[in-house]
Amino acid sequence: MAARLGPRRQHLPLLKRRGVLLLKLTAVTLAVLLFCEFLVYYLVIFRCNWPEVKPPTDSDGGQGTPEPVLRAMFLADTHLLGALRGHWLDKLRREWQMERAFQTALWLLQPEVAFILGDVFDEGKWSSPQAWADDVARFRRMFRHPPHVQLRAVAGNHDISFHYEMNTYKIKRFERVFNPERLFSWKGINFVMVNSMALEGDGCTICSGEEAELLEISHRLNCSREERRPRGCADGQRLPASAPVLLQHFPLYRRSDTNCSGEDAAPPNEKDIPFRERYDVLSREASQKLLWWFRPRLVLSGHTHSACEVLHGASVLEVSVPSFSWRNRNNPSFIMGSLTPTEYALTKCYLPCEDTVLITYCVAVGTLVLLTLLHVGLLTSPLRFGWNLLRKFKTT
Ligand SMILES: [Zn+2]
Repeated sequence: MAARLGPRRQHLPLLKRRGVLLLKLTAVTLAVLLFCEFLVYYLVIFRCNWPEVKPPTDSDGGQGTPEPVLRAMFLADTHLLGALRGHWLDKLRREWQMERAFQTALWLLQPEVAFILGDVFDEGKWSSPQAWADDVARFRRMFRHPPHVQLRAVAGNHDISFHYEMNTYKIKRFERVFNPERLFSWKGINFVMVNSMALEGDGCTICSGEEAELLEISHRLNCSREERRPRGCADGQRLPASAPVLLQHFPLYRRSDTNCSGEDAAPPNEKDIPFRERYDVLSREASQKLLWWFRPRLVLSGHTHSACEVLHGASVLEVSVPSFSWRNRNNPSFIMGSLTPTEYALTKCYLPCEDTVLITYCVAVGTLVLLTLLHVGLLTSPLRFGWNLLRKFKTT
């Protein structure tokens, strides 16, 4: 009996050591996964705060009664991969990252409305009805939100194609997912959502329809902004009297990104490349028309994937919002806006840097290898040799 138990007893410490190693490896792996796939989003987004809006000044120059503030989140170019492009792992990873970032931001920051400034989907321009339905289902899961939070989107060239390939079918299917209304008013703030690809200015049916609709909205907004109702204004319901915020995919015309600065501006080798009208930015005519028609107080746009701030005229600020996807940038971000009918304040909230996450994974893999080598004994001899050398050195 004793002879049979002998070898098993000998194996017991070995099995125990293997069990301990397995436990250590599992613990390190789980801790790293938990950090990189969940906690890092909370740690990074927790540092973002809503900007303070200046209180209005009353007629005596003192502080007036504070107006209600709308908290809005602006993000751009999510480019959800479709059925044709991109590796499945790339798709899985990018979508998981955007889902975690959006859900964490919703939970921590509690915005009232989120706007996506176009290129929500990567392949909306050519996807089949089935592929489109799949993309939309994934989008709805990733960007799920409670009913009191509004989610609005403007169309981008990847959603409905550039002008030369755009058609009513693609526009309608995009508008069935997102609200088709061009004007969105909430808490006394007017947002005008523009279809940039329909501002080609060539008089095509879609372009004429878009221009007519925008012109009609600008007329209603201008009527509401006048204290005394000017001639030609109908007696219908007045809109909030505040200057609108323009939301669009293509930026208003600018020559290039040369004057853009900041850590997430276009890289130096791309900055000076001139922009093509109707492709990289809106045409000069279309940009001028939008500025004349709406006299906006703020413009937000996407499409370039990089950040930029441009001043049109004396006071109209345009903010180019960088891409929200790690597929396009190492440091994606979104804009947090506190808006009242008369004032606004913006700040940028960065998402975790992809490099940080990748370095963490590399360090973790290194630790796992080290633990395994130590266990196997490959590292014990050099370590023991070093320790002995140290002791010898100390005693002499
Ligand atoms: Zn685009």
